[in-house]
Amino acid sequence: MATDLRVPTHSIVGPDKDTFLDEANPFEAMMLRFDKAAELLDLEPGLYRVLRHPEKQIIVSIPVMKDNGEVEVFTGYRVLYNTSRGPAKGGIRFDMQVTLEEVTALAAWMTWKCAVVNIPFGGAKGGVACDPRSMSASELERMTRRYTAAIIQTLGPDSDVPAPDVNTNERVMAWIMDTYSMHVGHTTTAVVTGKPVEMGGSLGRREATGRGCMIVTKEALAHLGMPVEGTTVAIQGFGNVGSVAALLLHQEGCKVVAIGDRSRCIHNSKGIDIEDAIAWHARHRTLDGYPNGEIISGSDLLTLDVDVLLPAALENVITTRNAASIRARIICEGANGPTTAAADSILDEADVFVIPDILANAGGVTVSYFEWVQDRGGYFWTERLVNDRLRDIMVNSFNDVLTLARQHRVNMRTAAYMLAISRVATVHRLRGIYA
Ligand code: GLU
Repeated sequence: MATDLRVPTHSIVGPDKDTFLDEANPFEAMMLRFDKAAELLDLEPGLYRVLRHPEKQIIVSIPVMKDNGEVEVFTGYRVLYNTSRGPAKGGIRFDMQVTLEEVTALAAWMTWKCAVVNIPFGGAKGGVACDPRSMSASELERMTRRYTAAIIQTLGPDSDVPAPDVNTNERVMAWIMDTYSMHVGHTTTAVVTGKPVEMGGSLGRREATGRGCMIVTKEALAHLGMPVEGTTVAIQGFGNVGSVAALLLHQEGCKVVAIGDRSRCIHNSKGIDIEDAIAWHARHRTLDGYPNGEIISGSDLLTLDVDVLLPAALENVITTRNAASIRARIICEGANGPTTAAADSILDEADVFVIPDILANAGGVTVSYFEWVQDRGGYFWTERLVNDRLRDIMVNSFNDVLTLARQHRVNMRTAAYMLAISRVATVHRLRGIYA
C-alpha cells in the first residue's frame, strides 16, 4: 500500500490577522519568507513589488496520442520568475500535484537558490500535471516532445535552461535537447542540463544535489560542535537526492537509521547498509519489501530521535501538525519547500538548526551551471574538478549565510533569503527599469 508522504495541513491566520492562509500553499510559504527578509533588508517599495511578481507564466495544452490510439490532453506550465541575473534556470517535473501556483513558487525558489550560491542564473520551473507511472516510455516521450515544442519560444541557452526535477531524468532531458535542436536546426547541448554524459552532460551532475546536502550537513555538524562519526540520520525520499545523500553520509561515517520512499519507510537503529538498500531499490524500483529493518510510517520517520533529518521528497511534510514533535537537531532540506512557513517558528523555538532548501539542495543547480559552462566552452572537466568546485561553492555559501544569520540574529532560512534577495535587488538597481 502506498504511504502518502505529505502530512495534512490546515488554514492558518495570516500576518494581518484577518486573512486565512493555506499552510499548504507553496507560493504563500515562499512569500511569507520573502516578506520577512524584504522587511529586514528595508527593500524599497518599488523593488519589493517587482520581486513579488513572476516575469512570465506559460500554460500550454499538450495533446498526446496514447499507445491505445486514444488522445489525452495534459496541462503543462513553465514559469520564469526572475531573469535579472542571467538565463532562467530550473527543473521540469511530471507529477499529478503540479499546478501553476506550485510551479510559480518553485520558480521563485530557483531564483533565490541561484542567488544564494551566486551563480549567474535567474529562476524558472516547469511541470506537467500527469501520472508518469501510468504512462509507457513512448507516451512519456511524445508528451515531453510536445511540451518542449509548446514552450520552445522561451527555451535556449541564453534564455531558459531546464533540468530534471521530480519524476524527470536524463532521458527526459535528452528528448528535450533533441526536440529543441531539431527546431533550431543545430545541436544545442546547453539548452538543458542533467543530460546523459555521452551527449554533453557533466560528470557528477546526477549526484550533485545529494552531494551538496552531505557537504552542508557536515558544515552544520562542525558549526554545532557535533562529530560526523556516528551521527544518526533519517532520510525521507529515496530518489536521486535522498539515496545519494544517504550513501555519501554513510560513507562519511554517519549512521543512517531510517530511509523511506512513497511505498515504505524502514528503520534500523543499528544503521542501514545503504549500498545494499540502493542495490535493492535499483532491482525493485521501490523500497517495498526491503527486509533489513522494521517498517515504520512516513510520519514516524520524521519524528525519530535522530541528529539529522533530511526530507528529500516533496513539499509540506513538516507542518504545524508535526513540527513540535521533530526531535532532530539539524534539518537539511533536500527537497524544495518541505517545511511550511508556519512550522518555521515552531522549529526555531525548539532550537532546530534548519539548513534551508535554497541552500541545502543548491548542489544540483550548481553542477547544472558547471554543465552549461562546459557545453558552451566545449571542454569537459574531470569528476574530481566538478566535485572540488561544488564543495567550494557549498562551503562558502553555507558560511556566507551563517555569517549573515549571526549578524542579524536570524535563522539560516531568513539569512539565506536576505542574501539572495539583496543580490537580485542589487542587479535590478544597477539595470534600472526599462521603459
Ligand atoms: N530541479 C533541481 C532544483 O530544484 C535542479 C534545477 C537545475 O539544475 O536547473 O534545484
